[in-house]
This record gives sequence, structure tokens and C-alpha cells, in this order.
Amino acid sequence: MFESIRGRSVLVTGGTKGIGKGIAAGFANAGARIAITGRDAASGERAAEELTAAAADINPAGGEVSYISGDVSDHASCRAMVAATVGKHGGLDVVCCNAGIFPASPVAEMTPGELEDVLATNLKGAIYTVQAALPALTESGRGRVILTSSITGPITGNAGWSHYGASKAGQLGFMRSAALEFAKSGITINAIMPGNIVTEGLESLGPEYRASMEASIPLGRLGSVADIANAALFLASDEAGYITAQTLVVDGGQTVPESLQAMV
Ligand code: NAP
Repeated sequence: MFESIRGRSVLVTGGTKGIGKGIAAGFANAGARIAITGRDAASGERAAEELTAAAADINPAGGEVSYISGDVSDHASCRAMVAATVGKHGGLDVVCCNAGIFPASPVAEMTPGELEDVLATNLKGAIYTVQAALPALTESGRGRVILTSSITGPITGNAGWSHYGASKAGQLGFMRSAALEFAKSGITINAIMPGNIVTEGLESLGPEYRASMEASIPLGRLGSVADIANAALFLASDEAGYITAQTLVVDGGQTVPESLQAMV
């Protein structure tokens, strides 16, 4: 499965933990070369070593993962991350814009700084990364952009996360116009919309949050990072080459029931 991924050059922002690390693992197991980024160098280096070793165990032709330090909320940093990836791999085929934060803040109390942090990381960070990667993706001739959006914002609401929802819905607005600009270069751009996925970030919201989310998911479990990685691998594959500007919800059916009573 996903044979076309072998040898591809992939950049995963926020690939040092959680969903991004899971996406990087999926690409590594499929034989790609991956650069993961994040701000904390210690956890980034550790993740790269761990992912490379795990990929070699699973697949003798398993890919190599390296860590590149960077902050997606900083335009120059995004350019440097992309340049380092291109320098290391000799090109760039797939960009997964995944880095994101989700601090809660009710509208009535939200400070300009809190709003700016969320928009700068989740929305501007994705745009800066795609902008920086565009020349290399064009050069690739089969460039792929995969955004990690969310069900929160584009489909659902969650009290306390209005700024987050706006950032994730904003990513989709960016995607649809960018897809039209990129199509002539053979670049596709799509978004995955995860439901509640078990990650370090989600665990930090506490056991009560986790239990209430579990109860609202028809498939009866939170998602795994592998569930998201599989969607990303598909969207990056040759088989998905005719799909652009689309969203793929990966949520165990969470967005379907009208209420808890609607589930059996
Ligand atoms: P996580 O476990 O907290 O991991 C976040 C990753 O992003 C880390 O690698 C982190 O590394 C990096 N990051 C954060 N801010 C950054 C910045 N300014 N520059 C560069 N890297 C940055 O989060 P997660 O749960 O895996 O979430 C990943 C993505 O999925 C986010 O976009 C989130 O909105 C989305 N999502 C998650 C869920 C879920 O249930 N978990 C659901 C829907 C959507 P450093 O801290 O070292 O920078």
C-alpha cells in the first residue's frame, strides 16, 4: 500500500509530537525521507531518532527522519525550514502543515495576545509554510500540500475554542483559493479534519474532557495518530492525484449524531 510514497521528500511541521509525529511515522514506514519541525530541539532530535529506528524495524527500505528546528509563526523561520529540507533531500514533494496549538479562552476573556498566538501558529503558520515551499513543490511536478485542520470550526463549535475554530476554518478558505493557483503546477492541496485524536496535546486537556469526547463518538474510541497518518498517506499518494481542495473528516463518526440520544 502507498508504494508511490517511497523516496518522496516530505516536510511535517509540528512533527515532533502527536499527530505530526504519527504522520511522520506513516511516511517513514512507507519509505519516504522526512524532515520534522518543532520549536523544542530536545524532543525533536529524540523523535527523529525514534522514528528512523522504528521505520527500519518495520521496513528494511524504511525512510529516514531528521529534525529541523523552526517556529511556524515566524515567516523567516518557515523559509529556513523549507530551505533546510530541500538542502537535505535535494527537493520537496509533500508538505504537511500540521503544527498547531489549542489553548482554551472564552470570547469574553480572550486577550489580543491569545488570539494572535492561535492565528499566527495555526493559520498564518500554514500559509507561511506553503508560501515558502511553493518553488520546491512546483519543481517537484507532483507537489502535495496536506493541512491538518479540524472538525472544530469548519463543522462543529466548542465553547472556549472560538479563536481555534476560526483558525481551522480559515485554513480551508486559504486552501480553496490556493488550490486554483497551484493546479497549473500539478500541486494539490487538501485538508484532513481530525476529530479527537489521542496526543500529548489532547491529554493535556484532562481526563474529564477525554471521557466526554469518548462518549460522543459512534465508533466508541478516540482516534489514533495512525488514523490521521493513513489519510495523509492517501492524499500524498499518486492514487489521490486528481483530488484537490477537498476535506477528509477522520472522526469516528463524531460529527454525525444530532445528540447523544441519536446514538445506539
Ligand atoms: P501536540 O501533541 O501538542 O503537538 C503539536 C506539535 O506542533 C508539536 O510538534 C509542537 O512542537 C508543534 N508546534 C506547536 N507550535 C509550534 C510552532 N509555533 N512552530 C512550530 N511547531 C509548533 O498537538 P496535536 O494534538 O498533535 O495537534 C497537531 C495538529 O492537529 C494541530 O494543528 C491541531 O490543531 C490539530 N488537531 C488535533 C486534534 C486532536 O484531537 N489532537 C484534533 C483536531 C485537529 P513544539 O512545541 O516543540 O514547537
